[in-house]
Amino acid sequence: MNGDSFSAGEQIVSPAYIRQGREARRSHEQLIRLLLEKGKCPQEPWDESTIELFLQELAVMDSNNFLGNCGVGEREGRVASSMVARRHYRLIHGIGRSGDIAAVQPKAAGSSLLNKLTNSVVLNVLKIAGARTATGCFVVPMATGMSLTLCFLTLRHKRPKAKYIIWPRIDQKSCFKSMITAGYEPVVIENVLEGDELRTDLNSVESKIQELGAENILCVHSTTSCFAPRVPDRLEELAEICAKYDIPHIVNNAYGVQSSKCMHLIQQGARKGRIDAFVQSLDKNFMVPVGGAVIAGFSNSFLEEISKMYPGRASASPSLDVLITLLSLGASGYKNLLTERKEMFTYLSSELKALAEKHNERLLETVHNPISLAMSLKNLNDEGGTAITQLGSMLFTRQVSGARVVPLGTSQTVNGYAFKGFMSHSNNYPCAYLNAASAIGIKKQDVDMFIKRLDKCLRLCRKEKHLGAQTAGDLQATKEDVRELAQQLSESLQVKAEDQQLLT
Ligand SMILES: *Cc1c(COP(=O)(O)O)cnc(C)c1O
Repeated sequence: MNGDSFSAGEQIVSPAYIRQGREARRSHEQLIRLLLEKGKCPQEPWDESTIELFLQELAVMDSNNFLGNCGVGEREGRVASSMVARRHYRLIHGIGRSGDIAAVQPKAAGSSLLNKLTNSVVLNVLKIAGARTATGCFVVPMATGMSLTLCFLTLRHKRPKAKYIIWPRIDQKSCFKSMITAGYEPVVIENVLEGDELRTDLNSVESKIQELGAENILCVHSTTSCFAPRVPDRLEELAEICAKYDIPHIVNNAYGVQSSKCMHLIQQGARKGRIDAFVQSLDKNFMVPVGGAVIAGFSNSFLEEISKMYPGRASASPSLDVLITLLSLGASGYKNLLTERKEMFTYLSSELKALAEKHNERLLETVHNPISLAMSLKNLNDEGGTAITQLGSMLFTRQVSGARVVPLGTSQTVNGYAFKGFMSHSNNYPCAYLNAASAIGIKKQDVDMFIKRLDKCLRLCRKEKHLGAQTAGDLQATKEDVRELAQQLSESLQVKAEDQQLLT
């Protein structure tokens, strides 16, 4: 309501009350004005009523919500279902124009404002998280892998001779495919084993560059966040090598925003050498649905080139989700989540260490990995890794998600590239292991339940192995052993039956 409306209201309800109501509205508007003026994540969380008011204000600025609009174009922001319209707060036009995802859309002033503002707020949060000198970023409605592809395709025009991408090995398929889809040949640099850790082989990177010739290389594609025992790449040194040979450097920072260590590596890399862009997932870092990523960097001209590579308009949903999330959390709420995550990492690591020792295993020493942990499974390491795979399915049956068992010696071919020891980031890692991560949003209860269930599964595995080793004659299983095994069997039968039902 504006001044005239309030005056009119004073004819109906006592002016004193109207004045008070107007003051109340003004405090919401104050927050909105501050957001627009500063373009920063508000320090304190916004109330949902402020967020909704703001989104309503944006939506009525878009032509699909004009009261007198008559649309005669092929894209008029018409939505058949009012439920769908509500799901998007009536922001229907998406973001960008046909030639640039960052461009302003004349039909949709509200959506355009939303887009620019989101990018500015996200940049502010990336800086708070540790990339202090980042100069720009933009949200894209594609997950991390496709966003990396877009970066590579943008470099294509600058480096017409290039065929190769130098890639310190990380066994994750979407980052590998991001290079294949862009039409490049990944040059896999095997990691080196240092203690338990797998780390970047800088000498190999440099000698590969010399062997292939810098101009034939599109970029170095490095990774921060990864499963232990791999640790974040040595970004500072890689960035220096890239600067020395004048080769672009793209960093896959998939879930690294939540870790000050990963962000610090990026900041140091950019300070000491060359980082052209770093790409992070929206869902993994900001607790929103899957579907978006942020492309960020230290040079706005390169970022502009990337945004111009995006063909056509794009969904505004990921931008809307992350903006709502950051306004609801405030910078303080996001920082709290980061602190809690770090505390849970320490807790998870001490709990997992104790459990490992109890089962005569070991928490692998991977001090450079700030998010993921690995516990050895040497006692389960049988021929073909069946016991290990079984542990994986036992955990899955018990509703433990995200824990990942890695047997030795699994080979896999991805897009025609054969990977020995796939999943372990190494041709021959010395032991099988299990991963668990402390990612943003994790609660103490998650850790406690996980440790309890893992303990039980490991005990069952041991008993099964023990039972299996005995002949039928001297089988001395206790009643409890049999009962537990029977329960496990019935659970897995139940899961099979449910799978069957789903299939039919
Ligand atoms: C999640 C992740 C990706 C990207 O996966 P998307 O599904 O494309 O978001 C890439 N690399 C690593 C290390 C990841 O963890």
